[in-house]
Amino acid sequence: MLVDIDHVFATPLFDPNRCGIGYHPLHSEIAIVGYILGVFLLKNRIIKLIFIGLLFHMITDLIDCLWMFSECKDCYLQSEIYKWIHI
Ligand SMILES: [Zn+2]
Repeated sequence: MLVDIDHVFATPLFDPNRCGIGYHPLHSEIAIVGYILGVFLLKNRIIKLIFIGLLFHMITDLIDCLWMFSECKDCYLQSEIYKWIHI
């Protein structure tokens, strides 16, 4: 997906043991809140569909993360999701 363009700006470029949620600018908590608001508030159907797509992308990325965390506890402890839960 196009939203993964922001993965390109991450260092290192690709890390299989890193959860993308919260790490990339378009995967941040602010971005996710924006997608949710967009889905409910936007009137334009095309743009609304794009936001729904973005939200689904976050869900699939999150499932990837949970899958990874189940096999790698350190990955979870270093993830942004862990920081959100343990403020
Ligand atoms: Zn992604």
